[in-house]
Amino acid sequence: MDTQDPLKNFRKHFYIPETDIIYLDGNSLGRLPEKTREKIQHTTDYEWGTRLIRSWNEGWYERSLDVSSKLARIIGAEEDEVITCDSTSLNLYKLAYAAVKKQSGRTKIVSDNLNFPTDLYILQGIIAQLGPEYELVLAKSKDGLTIDMQTLEETIDENTALVVLSHVTFKSAFMYNMKAVTALAHRKGALMLWDLSHAAGAVPVALNINNVDLAIGCTYKYLNGGPGSPAYLYVKKELQDQLSPPIWGWFGESDPFSFELQYKPAAGIKKFLVGTPPVLSLEAILPGLDIIILAGMESIRQKSVLQTEYLIYLFENLLEPIGFTIGSPVDADMRGSHISLQHPEAYRICKALINPKRASIKVIPDFRKPDNIRIGITPLYTSFSEIFLSIERIKKVVEEKEFELFSVEMDAVT
Ligand SMILES: *Cc1c(COP(=O)(O)O)cnc(C)c1O
Repeated sequence: MDTQDPLKNFRKHFYIPETDIIYLDGNSLGRLPEKTREKIQHTTDYEWGTRLIRSWNEGWYERSLDVSSKLARIIGAEEDEVITCDSTSLNLYKLAYAAVKKQSGRTKIVSDNLNFPTDLYILQGIIAQLGPEYELVLAKSKDGLTIDMQTLEETIDENTALVVLSHVTFKSAFMYNMKAVTALAHRKGALMLWDLSHAAGAVPVALNINNVDLAIGCTYKYLNGGPGSPAYLYVKKELQDQLSPPIWGWFGESDPFSFELQYKPAAGIKKFLVGTPPVLSLEAILPGLDIIILAGMESIRQKSVLQTEYLIYLFENLLEPIGFTIGSPVDADMRGSHISLQHPEAYRICKALINPKRASIKVIPDFRKPDNIRIGITPLYTSFSEIFLSIERIKKVVEEKEFELFSVEMDAVT
């Protein structure tokens, strides 16, 4: 399968200095593209080091827009509907607050209990600010992995201002049907906001076609933008004039360098900017986006489905018999590009994979409480052989009880 893989040459676009590592955590921090190394070098030495403040008029000021127009292609939006800035958490705050304010009279925000905690914290904070008549209601998963449409139908009602869900959930990789859920929210008169953090670069996303109102997402996972790279937000064109951002900063002003004392919002999507952009981190996002556009999201998805199916086949044959269960949907249409494998000793198995005492290969997945070994499949640089070797290695760690050499104490970042 590796020799027949149409994307096999894309691995060369990435800097891979250690050949004894199988990296299965590209869903948490994507690999470093080769071009990004050159770009950061150029930006520091030439643009910052040599050109200094002049660089603001030589490209820095528009950099966020360059990144945004490429991102827009990857998530199925127009370029004037996407802006790159701040973190995913902050962008959720800005959009959710603006959306609830617009929906006056409606006092309910709906999300689900599979959502990434920061999303729920931000929504809880908004509720606390807006007042006691507002509430956050979570649709509850029946199986711990997925949410069915009936549960959502029962949770979203005529009092719902906004629905906030992750297109692909972070633990089980359950993928919502974006079209059906967005249509449901609209039928009840609610606005729909999708968090694309685990979806963009992993699965094809079509915001315009599905009539999505709002979206946010990060760029350091499947988009390979680098640690803490800026996030993005999307607002459907027709909504842009109707929403007012809760944070009024000079980069969202109509003419920042007029230094006027009274704020006037910029037209369109730009009003959601706040302050000076992190130029180095913005630059670092571009090469990763170019690689994805070159490969094409359809090819990436095709390989991702083949690879996750292969992983499930190996799980059924090698791991299920020794006590593992699967923590992801087995139906590819309901799944993103990572797979969670569950085992009571998941944390110590992860440690043994990352810091082997008796093996020559290091396998890097990650651990998510309480018992998930999360395996990120990133088709641009993951091979089928790597998946096979990793599953074989997990089997060995369990059969030979190698995990018992490790303590159960958790690291700060897992
Ligand atoms: C990764 C992720 C985030 C990260 O938020 P930051 O503000 O970048 O820390 C938020 N939401 C979801 C669903 C994620 O997967």
